[in-house]
Amino acid sequence: MLLRLLAVALSFCVSLSIRAESPHAATIESTLASDGDRIRQLAFDGDKKSYFASAKNASASDHFTFTLDKPLVVRSIQVLTGRPDGSQKLTAAALEISTDGERFEELATFRAGAAAGKPKDEKIRAVRIQLKKDLKHPLVVREIVLDADPALAVFKHPVEFTVDASDAPEMKEWAEKSARICERWYDRINDELKSPRFQPTRRVRMTIKKMKGVAYTSGTDIVGSAAFFKDHPDDFGAMIHETVHVVQSYRVPGNPGWLVEGVADYVRFFKYEPGKIGPLNPRIVRHDGSYRMSAAFLAYLTEKYDKELVRKLNKMMREGEYKKEVFQKLTGKPLDKLGEEWKATLKR
Ligand SMILES: [Zn+2]
Repeated sequence: MLLRLLAVALSFCVSLSIRAESPHAATIESTLASDGDRIRQLAFDGDKKSYFASAKNASASDHFTFTLDKPLVVRSIQVLTGRPDGSQKLTAAALEISTDGERFEELATFRAGAAAGKPKDEKIRAVRIQLKKDLKHPLVVREIVLDADPALAVFKHPVEFTVDASDAPEMKEWAEKSARICERWYDRINDELKSPRFQPTRRVRMTIKKMKGVAYTSGTDIVGSAAFFKDHPDDFGAMIHETVHVVQSYRVPGNPGWLVEGVADYVRFFKYEPGKIGPLNPRIVRHDGSYRMSAAFLAYLTEKYDKELVRKLNKMMREGEYKKEVFQKLTGKPLDKLGEEWKATLKR
């Protein structure tokens, strides 16, 4: 934790920051809470069998809105609703589009659960299902199909972050924004840490409460300090770091803490916010110094020895196969030697 605070104190070096393109430039929001694992992103996962379902019956004022970060040319839109058995199809509702994400116009109406249309406008920013009367059943959205140019990737690892800011209500808006960023980065994080047969969780809880420190993760629960994020409202990277812990999903003992934290900060500083890591002091730096130090060490090894190094280390830690000797296998050199070698590069 001390190291973590030290590292945060070093984060003044923001001028160099180049925000990497978010791989998923889309967000799905709704006035309706999801029913368990029937999360919103399942409406845009390329699979017509999986679907979003609301926990409660939908009412006339409810909506389900798909928003793009940047307007895109959309040639056609098709939306399918109702459960795969044919029940709970939508009828009294409009399929709406928006060029600015604020003002919507009707493109089509739902008939027998489906709506489709071709937008006339050049670029579309948002697509919305707007109900027109109360339903006697939940809203069920099976799939939104967009023919867009350029094509928009579907959510490969659908996820939903549920925010609890009851202990610090003034942080609710910040937490919701942070949650949407982490949702958008979930596919990318899973790609960086993929391993055979691993299925990441679909539900993550993000709690902001009054506590000391910055943030921590336990299983699929991320907890952040209200005071810290009030003082550091731009530090979404800290929540990306915690989201990496959720994806790491290391359930076995024996993984060294420095490497677990190093992988989390590697994804944060070398994928999410390259350039933001700040300077490392060559006099005190250690490869097993955790957080940023270990992240920079992993980046060095990745560049010099093995582009898949972090994926391989993650797989081993996830499956309980990690031993220090794997560094020798992966690079031909023992860990301590690699640490010295990396340190020497910093002194130049
Ligand atoms: Zn951590």
